Amino acid sequence: MRQREWKKLKEWVAKLTFGQRHELMGELTADDEIVACVGIIENHGKPEQCPRCGSVHVVRNGSASGLQRYKCRGCSRTFNGLTGTPLARLRLKPKWLSQAEALRDGVTITKAAERLKVARSTAFRWRHRFMALPKTIQAQKLVGIAEADETFFLHSDKGQRGLDRKPRRRGGSAAKRGLSKEQIPVLVARDRSGATANFILAADGKADLVAALKPLLPLDTILCTDGSSVLAAAVKEIGVTHRPINVSAGRRVIAGVYHIQNVNAFDSRLKNWIRRFHGVATKYLDSYLGWFRTLDRSSSTGLQPASLLALAVGRQAVLN
Ligand SMILES: [Zn+2]
Repeated sequence: MRQREWKKLKEWVAKLTFGQRHELMGELTADDEIVACVGIIENHGKPEQCPRCGSVHVVRNGSASGLQRYKCRGCSRTFNGLTGTPLARLRLKPKWLSQAEALRDGVTITKAAERLKVARSTAFRWRHRFMALPKTIQAQKLVGIAEADETFFLHSDKGQRGLDRKPRRRGGSAAKRGLSKEQIPVLVARDRSGATANFILAADGKADLVAALKPLLPLDTILCTDGSSVLAAAVKEIGVTHRPINVSAGRRVIAGVYHIQNVNAFDSRLKNWIRRFHGVATKYLDSYLGWFRTLDRSSSTGLQPASLLALAVGRQAVLN
């Protein structure tokens, strides 16, 4: 709204009767959720540069869909706080905080669709758009004593048409016992500050483990593992100190500090959380891993839906 119109509006508001004022208040609070969303999206005020061409010559240019619109003097195009984010052009903003809340609560697509009163296809699309940025956030370096472990997820083509076998029911189980091609290896690495990284590995082999772990581990890291031969070989090649913990031999903690209890506890929280989805399509596994990391990082303080929305539009790199 232009400055002149805004001044006029305030003058009109001053003329309202008590009843009209009350009615207007009702209209405004009904919009609370959208106001909160817009506040989060426009958190940083005027963008420093155009998301399309990078020009810094950006001016205010009215508003559209409840958001401040900007015009770039460089490319002459308009944009808003959502342009260039995964939520650009998604509709139904008034439901976005409820969507963030559904993500916080880790509800299934069916439950999310019921809560938000949207189609399942919308609930599905929103989930993946909301997780597009958070799933890219993970620890880039571990410090001090770190722990690494491999965990496995059943390969799944869930949701795909034309399966060459009977679909599994409610996630199901592998046709073969133990490790096989049906199991997708995921490396979980974590340090004692809680910094965590996950890697979906193409194969459970040394080369893939080295590629994932090496950038993560400064040379003075001490890495604790379960002592599996493939992890041991990878750690040897990376050149950091290795503390294998042979849990099956009854040794759980060495020298009071070397153990893999943090990474094991993370794995079991992850497995327990993911069970509700009754199997996760392998092509979306990274989204689910990122979603869980986001939730788990702030479990002690409880994640606010507003923080999740801010993460989804890239307004907040670090959680509360
Ligand atoms: Zn531009």
